[in-house]
Amino acid sequence: MNNSRVYDMSPPQLPLATLIGRELRNEKIEKPLVRHGHAGLAKKGEDYFLIKPDCERIPGNSASSFSVFAIFDGHNGVSAAIFTKENLLNHVMSAIPQGIGREEWLHALPRALVAGFVKTDIDFQRRGMYLIILSIRETSGTTVTFVVVDGLTVTVASVGDSRCILDTQGGVVSLLTVDHRLEENAEERERVTASGGEVGRLNVCGGTEVGPLRCWPGGLCLSRSIGDMDVGEFIVPIPHVKQVKLPTTGGRLIIASDGIWDALSSEIAAQSCRGLPAELAAKLVVKEALRSRGLKDDTTCVVVDIIPPDHFVAPPSPKKKQNMLTSLIFGKKNQNSMNKLTNKLSSVGVVEELFEEGSAMLAERLGPDVPFKPSSGLMRCAVCQVDQPSEGLSVNAGLFFSPTSKPWEGPFLCADCRIKKDAMEGKRPSHPKATA
Ligand SMILES: [Zn+2]
Repeated sequence: MNNSRVYDMSPPQLPLATLIGRELRNEKIEKPLVRHGHAGLAKKGEDYFLIKPDCERIPGNSASSFSVFAIFDGHNGVSAAIFTKENLLNHVMSAIPQGIGREEWLHALPRALVAGFVKTDIDFQRRGMYLIILSIRETSGTTVTFVVVDGLTVTVASVGDSRCILDTQGGVVSLLTVDHRLEENAEERERVTASGGEVGRLNVCGGTEVGPLRCWPGGLCLSRSIGDMDVGEFIVPIPHVKQVKLPTTGGRLIIASDGIWDALSSEIAAQSCRGLPAELAAKLVVKEALRSRGLKDDTTCVVVDIIPPDHFVAPPSPKKKQNMLTSLIFGKKNQNSMNKLTNKLSSVGVVEELFEEGSAMLAERLGPDVPFKPSSGLMRCAVCQVDQPSEGLSVNAGLFFSPTSKPWEGPFLCADCRIKKDAMEGKRPSHPKATA
Protein backbone atom coordinates (compact mmCIF):
# COMPACT_ATOMS: atom_id res chain seq x y z
CA MET A 1 0.00 0.00 0.00
CA ASN A 2 1.12 3.51 -0.66
CA ASN A 3 1.18 5.19 2.72
CA SER A 4 1.77 8.70 1.49
CA ARG A 5 -1.34 8.42 -0.60
CA VAL A 6 -3.41 7.54 2.42
CA TYR A 7 -2.10 10.52 4.32
CA ASP A 8 -2.83 12.80 1.38
CA MET A 9 -6.40 11.63 1.24
CA SER A 10 -7.04 12.08 4.96
CA PRO A 11 -9.70 14.43 6.32
CA PRO A 12 -8.79 18.14 6.43
CA GLN A 13 -5.71 18.47 8.61
CA LEU A 14 -6.07 20.54 11.76
CA PRO A 15 -3.38 23.16 12.39
CA LEU A 16 -0.52 21.68 14.40
CA ALA A 17 -1.03 24.25 17.18
CA THR A 18 -4.63 23.08 17.63
CA LEU A 19 -3.54 19.45 17.86
CA ILE A 20 -0.75 20.16 20.32
CA GLY A 21 -3.11 22.31 22.43
CA ARG A 22 -5.54 19.39 22.50
CA GLU A 23 -2.80 17.00 23.47
CA LEU A 24 -1.62 19.24 26.29
CA ARG A 25 -5.14 19.54 27.67
CA ASN A 26 -5.52 15.78 27.52
CA GLU A 27 -2.15 15.24 29.15
CA LYS A 28 -2.67 17.41 32.20
CA ILE A 29 -2.03 14.34 34.26
CA GLU A 30 1.63 13.60 33.77
CA LYS A 31 2.33 10.51 31.71
CA PRO A 32 3.41 7.46 33.65
CA LEU A 33 6.90 6.10 33.15
CA VAL A 34 7.04 2.97 31.04
CA ARG A 35 9.92 0.63 31.82
CA HIS A 36 10.46 -2.65 30.06
CA GLY A 37 12.63 -5.73 30.08
CA HIS A 38 12.80 -8.90 28.04
CA ALA A 39 14.33 -12.33 28.30
CA GLY A 40 14.11 -15.59 26.43
CA LEU A 41 15.66 -18.88 25.50
CA ALA A 42 15.30 -20.48 22.11
CA LYS A 43 14.59 -24.13 21.42
CA LYS A 44 13.47 -23.85 17.80
CA GLY A 45 14.24 -20.16 17.29
CA GLU A 46 10.72 -19.25 16.16
CA ASP A 47 9.83 -16.66 18.84
CA TYR A 48 10.20 -12.98 17.97
CA PHE A 49 9.37 -9.86 19.91
CA LEU A 50 8.95 -6.15 19.23
CA ILE A 51 9.69 -3.31 21.64
CA LYS A 52 8.98 0.24 20.42
CA PRO A 53 8.82 2.65 23.33
CA ASP A 54 9.03 5.83 21.24
CA CYS A 55 6.03 5.94 18.89
CA GLU A 56 4.16 9.23 18.37
CA ARG A 57 0.54 9.80 17.38
CA ILE A 58 1.53 13.21 16.00
CA PRO A 59 4.98 12.94 14.44
CA GLY A 60 7.39 15.31 16.16
CA ASN A 61 5.21 15.86 19.23
CA SER A 62 6.61 13.95 22.17
CA ALA A 63 3.48 14.72 24.23
CA SER A 64 1.64 12.34 21.88
CA SER A 65 3.93 9.39 22.59
CA PHE A 66 2.86 5.80 23.10
CA SER A 67 4.65 2.47 23.34
CA VAL A 68 4.19 -0.85 21.57
CA PHE A 69 5.24 -4.27 22.84
CA ALA A 70 4.54 -7.51 21.02
CA ILE A 71 5.37 -11.20 20.93
CA PHE A 72 5.18 -13.43 17.85
CA ASP A 73 5.45 -17.17 18.48
CA GLY A 74 6.03 -18.70 15.08
CA HIS A 75 5.45 -22.30 13.97
CA ASN A 76 6.49 -24.32 10.91
CA GLY A 77 9.17 -21.75 10.18
CA VAL A 78 9.88 -18.13 11.01
CA SER A 79 8.56 -16.26 7.94
CA ALA A 80 5.13 -15.36 9.32
CA ALA A 81 6.57 -14.17 12.64
CA ILE A 82 9.22 -11.99 10.98
CA PHE A 83 6.79 -10.63 8.37
CA THR A 84 4.25 -9.72 11.05
CA LYS A 85 6.86 -8.11 13.27
CA GLU A 86 7.98 -5.94 10.35
CA ASN A 87 4.56 -4.90 9.05
CA LEU A 88 1.78 -5.10 11.62
CA LEU A 89 2.41 -1.81 13.44
CA ASN A 90 2.37 0.18 10.18
CA HIS A 91 -0.83 -1.50 9.05
CA VAL A 92 -2.56 -0.74 12.35
CA MET A 93 -1.47 2.90 12.30
CA SER A 94 -2.58 3.32 8.68
CA ALA A 95 -6.09 2.32 9.72
CA ILE A 96 -6.45 5.16 12.25
CA PRO A 97 -7.77 8.43 10.80
CA GLN A 98 -5.26 11.28 10.82
CA GLY A 99 -5.74 14.52 12.72
CA ILE A 100 -7.73 13.24 15.67
CA GLY A 101 -7.12 13.83 19.37
CA ARG A 102 -5.97 11.31 21.96
CA GLU A 103 -9.39 10.15 23.13
CA GLU A 104 -10.64 9.61 19.57
CA TRP A 105 -7.38 7.87 18.73
CA LEU A 106 -7.75 5.43 21.61
CA HIS A 107 -11.38 4.89 20.64
CA ALA A 108 -10.37 4.12 17.03
CA LEU A 109 -7.57 1.76 18.05
CA PRO A 110 -9.53 -1.52 18.57
CA ARG A 111 -11.03 -1.31 15.08
CA ALA A 112 -7.66 -0.36 13.56
CA LEU A 113 -6.08 -3.40 15.24
CA VAL A 114 -8.61 -5.69 13.54
CA ALA A 115 -7.95 -4.07 10.16
CA GLY A 116 -4.17 -4.20 10.67
CA PHE A 117 -4.14 -7.89 11.63
CA VAL A 118 -6.29 -8.87 8.63
CA LYS A 119 -4.27 -6.75 6.21
CA THR A 120 -1.01 -8.29 7.46
CA ASP A 121 -2.45 -11.78 6.90
CA ILE A 122 -3.66 -10.90 3.38
CA ASP A 123 -0.25 -9.47 2.48
CA PHE A 124 1.52 -12.53 3.87
CA GLN A 125 -0.72 -14.80 1.78
CA ARG A 126 0.06 -12.76 -1.34
CA ARG A 127 3.73 -13.24 -0.64
CA GLY A 128 3.10 -16.96 -0.09
CA MET A 129 1.29 -17.28 -3.41
CA TYR A 130 4.27 -15.70 -5.13
CA LEU A 131 6.59 -18.20 -3.44
CA ILE A 132 4.43 -21.09 -4.68
CA ILE A 133 5.08 -19.88 -8.22
CA LEU A 134 8.76 -20.28 -7.38
CA SER A 135 8.00 -23.79 -6.04
CA ILE A 136 8.68 -22.69 -2.47
CA ARG A 137 6.05 -23.96 -0.05
CA GLU A 138 5.06 -21.43 2.61
CA THR A 139 3.46 -23.08 5.63
CA SER A 140 4.58 -20.89 8.54
CA GLY A 141 2.23 -19.16 10.91
CA THR A 142 2.48 -17.12 14.08
CA THR A 143 0.64 -16.11 17.20
CA VAL A 144 0.55 -12.37 17.84
CA THR A 145 0.10 -10.55 21.11
CA PHE A 146 0.29 -6.83 20.40
CA VAL A 147 0.14 -4.31 23.23
CA VAL A 148 -0.26 -0.54 22.94
CA VAL A 149 0.45 1.49 26.09
CA ASP A 150 -0.69 5.12 26.06
CA GLY A 151 -0.63 6.74 29.49
CA LEU A 152 -2.62 4.48 31.76
CA THR A 153 -4.62 3.03 28.86
CA VAL A 154 -3.51 -0.43 27.73
CA THR A 155 -4.90 -2.02 24.56
CA VAL A 156 -4.10 -5.66 23.79
CA ALA A 157 -4.88 -7.47 20.53
CA SER A 158 -4.09 -11.16 20.22
CA VAL A 159 -4.42 -14.25 18.06
CA GLY A 160 -3.14 -17.60 19.28
CA ASP A 161 -1.96 -18.42 22.77
CA SER A 162 0.76 -15.93 23.71
CA ARG A 163 -0.82 -14.44 26.79
CA CYS A 164 -0.64 -10.97 28.27
CA ILE A 165 -1.39 -10.69 31.98
CA LEU A 166 -1.85 -7.62 34.14
CA ASP A 167 -0.62 -7.39 37.73
CA THR A 168 -1.70 -4.33 39.69
CA GLN A 169 -1.19 -3.09 43.23
CA GLY A 170 -3.29 -5.45 45.27
CA GLY A 171 -1.95 -8.64 43.83
CA VAL A 172 -4.88 -9.73 41.68
CA VAL A 173 -3.66 -10.94 38.34
CA SER A 174 -5.92 -10.67 35.33
CA LEU A 175 -5.67 -12.03 31.80
CA LEU A 176 -5.94 -9.47 28.99
CA THR A 177 -5.97 -12.09 26.21
CA VAL A 178 -7.92 -15.28 25.51
CA ASP A 179 -6.25 -18.51 24.43
CA HIS A 180 -7.24 -19.38 20.88
CA ARG A 181 -6.49 -23.07 21.45
CA LEU A 182 -8.91 -25.59 19.98
CA GLU A 183 -8.42 -27.84 23.01
CA GLU A 184 -9.59 -25.19 25.46
CA ASN A 185 -11.96 -23.01 23.50
CA ALA A 186 -15.32 -24.65 22.69
CA GLU A 187 -16.65 -21.56 20.95
CA GLU A 188 -13.72 -21.56 18.56
CA ARG A 189 -14.16 -25.31 17.89
CA GLU A 190 -17.75 -24.67 16.88
CA ARG A 191 -16.78 -21.79 14.63
CA VAL A 192 -14.02 -23.75 12.89
CA THR A 193 -16.29 -26.77 12.37
CA ALA A 194 -19.15 -24.59 11.06
CA SER A 195 -16.72 -22.94 8.61
CA GLY A 196 -15.66 -26.27 7.12
CA GLY A 197 -12.68 -27.29 9.27
CA GLU A 198 -12.28 -30.66 10.93
CA VAL A 199 -11.26 -30.81 14.57
CA GLY A 200 -9.69 -33.93 16.02
CA ARG A 201 -6.61 -35.43 17.63
CA LEU A 202 -3.59 -36.85 15.92
CA ASN A 203 -4.14 -40.46 14.88
CA VAL A 204 -1.15 -42.69 15.39
CA CYS A 205 -0.89 -46.23 14.08
CA GLY A 206 -3.58 -48.47 15.52
CA GLY A 207 -6.07 -45.59 15.60
CA THR A 208 -4.96 -44.29 18.99
CA GLU A 209 -5.62 -40.58 19.35
CA VAL A 210 -2.91 -38.53 21.00
CA GLY A 211 -2.15 -34.92 21.86
CA PRO A 212 -4.33 -31.84 21.88
CA LEU A 213 -7.23 -31.13 19.54
CA ARG A 214 -6.05 -29.94 16.15
CA CYS A 215 -7.58 -28.53 13.02
CA TRP A 216 -7.38 -30.60 9.83
CA PRO A 217 -6.01 -30.31 7.24
CA GLY A 218 -2.77 -28.93 8.64
CA GLY A 219 -2.90 -30.19 12.22
CA LEU A 220 -2.73 -26.76 13.89
CA CYS A 221 -3.66 -26.56 17.61
CA LEU A 222 -4.60 -22.88 17.32
CA SER A 223 -7.86 -21.50 15.95
CA ARG A 224 -6.48 -18.06 15.12
CA SER A 225 -3.10 -16.95 13.76
CA ILE A 226 -1.42 -14.97 11.04
CA GLY A 227 -0.11 -17.09 8.18
CA ASP A 228 -0.84 -20.85 8.11
CA MET A 229 -1.73 -20.85 4.42
CA ASP A 230 -1.85 -24.66 4.34
CA VAL A 231 -4.49 -24.97 7.03
CA GLY A 232 -7.56 -23.08 5.86
CA GLU A 233 -9.13 -19.64 5.99
CA PHE A 234 -11.18 -20.53 9.06
CA ILE A 235 -7.95 -20.12 11.03
CA VAL A 236 -8.58 -16.39 11.11
CA PRO A 237 -6.27 -13.45 11.89
CA ILE A 238 -9.07 -11.50 13.62
CA PRO A 239 -7.76 -10.62 17.09
CA HIS A 240 -9.40 -10.60 20.47
CA VAL A 241 -9.07 -6.99 21.62
CA LYS A 242 -9.24 -5.71 25.16
CA GLN A 243 -8.69 -2.13 26.32
CA VAL A 244 -8.36 -1.21 30.00
CA LYS A 245 -7.44 1.85 31.99
CA LEU A 246 -5.06 1.12 34.84
CA PRO A 247 -5.58 2.57 38.29
CA THR A 248 -3.52 5.62 39.21
CA THR A 249 -1.06 3.25 40.87
CA GLY A 250 -0.17 1.80 37.45
CA GLY A 251 0.59 -1.87 36.91
CA ARG A 252 2.81 -4.51 35.36
CA LEU A 253 2.20 -6.38 32.09
CA ILE A 254 3.79 -9.76 31.44
CA ILE A 255 3.61 -10.77 27.77
CA ALA A 256 5.00 -14.20 26.96
CA SER A 257 4.92 -17.14 24.57
CA ASP A 258 3.45 -20.49 25.60
CA GLY A 259 6.90 -21.68 26.67
CA ILE A 260 6.13 -19.66 29.81
CA TRP A 261 2.40 -20.33 30.14
CA ASP A 262 2.68 -24.10 29.68
CA ALA A 263 4.97 -24.07 32.73
CA LEU A 264 3.54 -21.30 34.93
CA SER A 265 0.08 -20.07 35.86
CA SER A 266 -0.56 -16.35 35.52
CA GLU A 267 -0.43 -15.98 39.30
CA ILE A 268 2.87 -17.81 39.71
CA ALA A 269 4.45 -15.83 36.88
CA ALA A 270 3.36 -12.54 38.47
CA GLN A 271 4.39 -13.60 41.97
CA SER A 272 7.79 -14.84 40.87
CA CYS A 273 9.00 -11.34 39.95
CA ARG A 274 7.08 -8.86 42.11
CA GLY A 275 9.04 -5.94 43.47
CA LEU A 276 11.86 -6.35 40.95
CA PRO A 277 12.69 -4.02 38.06
CA ALA A 278 11.35 -5.06 34.66
CA GLU A 279 14.58 -6.33 33.12
CA LEU A 280 15.30 -8.59 36.07
CA ALA A 281 11.64 -9.59 36.32
CA ALA A 282 11.62 -10.90 32.74
CA LYS A 283 14.73 -13.00 33.42
CA LEU A 284 13.21 -14.42 36.59
CA VAL A 285 9.95 -15.42 34.88
CA VAL A 286 11.93 -17.30 32.21
CA LYS A 287 14.11 -18.92 34.85
CA GLU A 288 11.07 -19.99 36.86
CA ALA A 289 9.46 -21.54 33.77
CA LEU A 290 12.65 -23.47 32.92
CA ARG A 291 13.04 -24.65 36.50
CA SER A 292 9.63 -26.28 36.50
CA ARG A 293 9.58 -27.70 32.99
CA GLY A 294 12.98 -27.48 31.35
CA LEU A 295 13.50 -26.01 27.91
CA LYS A 296 10.73 -27.75 25.94
CA ASP A 297 9.79 -24.85 23.69
CA ASP A 298 10.86 -21.36 22.69
CA THR A 299 10.40 -19.27 25.79
CA THR A 300 10.10 -15.49 25.51
CA CYS A 301 8.96 -12.93 28.06
CA VAL A 302 8.48 -9.16 27.92
CA VAL A 303 7.74 -7.30 31.14
CA VAL A 304 6.32 -3.75 31.01
CA ASP A 305 5.96 -1.59 34.10
CA ILE A 306 3.64 1.42 33.92
CA ILE A 307 4.61 3.64 36.82
CA PRO A 308 2.92 6.99 37.56
CA PRO A 309 5.83 9.33 38.32
CA ASP A 310 4.46 10.69 41.59
CA HIS A 311 3.21 7.39 42.88
CA PHE A 312 5.34 4.36 43.25
CA VAL A 313 8.92 3.97 42.24
CA ALA A 314 8.82 0.23 42.60
CA PRO A 315 6.76 -2.11 40.44
CA PRO A 316 3.80 -3.86 42.09
CA SER A 317 4.67 -5.17 45.54
CA PRO A 318 1.26 -6.04 46.86
CA LYS A 319 1.77 -8.26 49.84
CA LYS A 320 0.74 -5.75 52.50
CA LYS A 321 -2.49 -4.60 50.95
CA GLN A 322 -3.48 -7.85 49.34
CA ASN A 323 -6.64 -8.65 51.29
CA MET A 324 -8.00 -5.15 51.24
CA LEU A 325 -7.43 -4.55 47.58
CA THR A 326 -8.08 -7.93 46.07
CA SER A 327 -11.76 -7.24 45.60
CA LEU A 328 -11.08 -3.88 44.06
CA ILE A 329 -9.37 -5.16 40.99
CA PHE A 330 -12.01 -5.46 38.30
CA GLY A 331 -14.26 -3.92 40.94
CA LYS A 332 -17.36 -4.01 38.76
CA LYS A 333 -17.94 -7.58 39.84
CA ASN A 334 -17.41 -6.87 43.51
CA GLN A 335 -19.64 -3.92 44.22
CA ASN A 336 -20.46 -4.89 47.81
CA SER A 337 -16.97 -5.22 49.10
CA MET A 338 -16.00 -2.14 47.14
CA ASN A 339 -18.54 0.03 48.93
CA LYS A 340 -17.06 -0.84 52.26
CA LEU A 341 -13.78 0.77 51.38
CA THR A 342 -12.95 4.42 51.19
CA ASN A 343 -13.25 6.41 48.01
CA LYS A 344 -9.56 7.08 48.09
CA LEU A 345 -8.74 3.39 47.97
CA SER A 346 -11.20 2.63 45.19
CA SER A 347 -9.81 5.43 43.07
CA VAL A 348 -6.36 3.83 43.13
CA GLY A 349 -7.36 0.19 42.93
CA VAL A 350 -9.78 -0.31 40.06
CA VAL A 351 -8.89 -1.43 36.58
CA GLU A 352 -11.48 0.15 34.32
CA GLU A 353 -12.57 -2.01 31.39
CA LEU A 354 -13.01 0.26 28.39
CA PHE A 355 -13.51 -2.26 25.58
CA GLU A 356 -13.51 -6.00 24.94
CA GLU A 357 -14.52 -7.86 21.80
CA GLY A 358 -13.44 -11.25 20.48
CA SER A 359 -15.84 -12.09 17.66
CA ALA A 360 -14.35 -13.74 14.59
CA MET A 361 -16.92 -12.05 12.30
CA LEU A 362 -15.42 -9.11 10.44
CA ALA A 363 -18.77 -7.26 10.17
CA GLU A 364 -19.12 -7.27 13.94
CA ARG A 365 -15.60 -5.95 14.39
CA LEU A 366 -15.55 -3.21 11.79
CA GLY A 367 -19.03 -1.93 12.59
CA PRO A 368 -21.61 -0.60 10.16
CA ASP A 369 -20.06 2.85 9.94
CA VAL A 370 -18.16 4.24 7.00
CA PRO A 371 -15.68 6.39 8.86
CA PHE A 372 -14.15 8.14 5.92
CA LYS A 373 -15.14 8.73 2.32
CA PRO A 374 -12.42 10.36 0.30
CA SER A 375 -13.58 12.97 -2.20
CA SER A 376 -13.85 12.44 -5.96
CA GLY A 377 -15.99 9.33 -5.82
CA LEU A 378 -13.41 7.10 -4.18
CA MET A 379 -14.15 4.76 -1.30
CA ARG A 380 -11.53 3.56 1.16
CA CYS A 381 -11.41 -0.11 2.12
CA ALA A 382 -11.89 -0.47 5.87
CA VAL A 383 -9.30 -3.27 6.01
CA CYS A 384 -6.45 -2.46 3.63
CA GLN A 385 -7.08 1.32 3.41
CA VAL A 386 -6.77 1.32 -0.37
CA ASP A 387 -9.01 3.78 -2.22
CA GLN A 388 -11.18 2.44 -5.02
CA PRO A 389 -13.75 4.09 -7.25
CA SER A 390 -17.16 3.64 -5.64
CA GLU A 391 -19.06 4.01 -8.89
CA GLY A 392 -20.86 0.81 -9.75
CA LEU A 393 -19.96 -0.73 -6.41
CA SER A 394 -22.66 -1.04 -3.84
CA VAL A 395 -21.56 -1.45 -0.27
CA ASN A 396 -24.52 -3.59 0.65
CA ALA A 397 -25.23 -5.50 -2.52
CA GLY A 398 -23.18 -8.60 -1.79
CA LEU A 399 -22.42 -8.49 -5.47
CA PHE A 400 -19.32 -10.62 -5.62
CA PHE A 401 -20.82 -14.01 -4.82
CA SER A 402 -23.17 -15.88 -2.54
CA PRO A 403 -26.45 -14.30 -3.60
CA THR A 404 -28.20 -16.27 -0.85
CA SER A 405 -26.09 -15.00 1.99
CA LYS A 406 -27.03 -12.01 4.10
CA PRO A 407 -26.05 -8.69 2.55
CA TRP A 408 -22.84 -7.27 3.94
CA GLU A 409 -23.71 -4.68 6.53
CA GLY A 410 -20.20 -3.52 7.33
CA PRO A 411 -18.22 -0.66 5.84
CA PHE A 412 -16.81 -0.56 2.33
CA LEU A 413 -14.37 -3.36 1.52
CA CYS A 414 -12.34 -3.68 -1.66
CA ALA A 415 -12.79 -6.80 -3.79
CA ASP A 416 -9.75 -8.57 -2.31
CA CYS A 417 -10.81 -7.93 1.27
CA ARG A 418 -14.37 -9.09 0.55
CA ILE A 419 -12.97 -12.33 -0.83
CA LYS A 420 -10.91 -12.72 2.34
CA LYS A 421 -13.92 -11.98 4.55
CA ASP A 422 -16.10 -14.59 2.84
CA ALA A 423 -13.32 -17.18 2.93
CA MET A 424 -12.83 -16.65 6.67
CA GLU A 425 -16.54 -17.28 7.19
CA GLY A 426 -16.42 -20.49 5.16
CA LYS A 427 -18.55 -18.98 2.35
CA ARG A 428 -16.02 -19.69 -0.36
CA PRO A 429 -13.27 -22.20 -0.75
CA SER A 430 -10.00 -21.41 0.95
CA HIS A 431 -7.18 -20.01 -1.08
CA PRO A 432 -5.37 -22.60 -3.18
CA LYS A 433 -3.44 -24.96 -0.97
CA ALA A 434 0.28 -24.50 -0.81
CA THR A 435 0.55 -28.22 -1.48
CA ALA A 436 -1.52 -28.13 -4.68
ZN1 LIG B 1 -9.15 -3.98 1.05
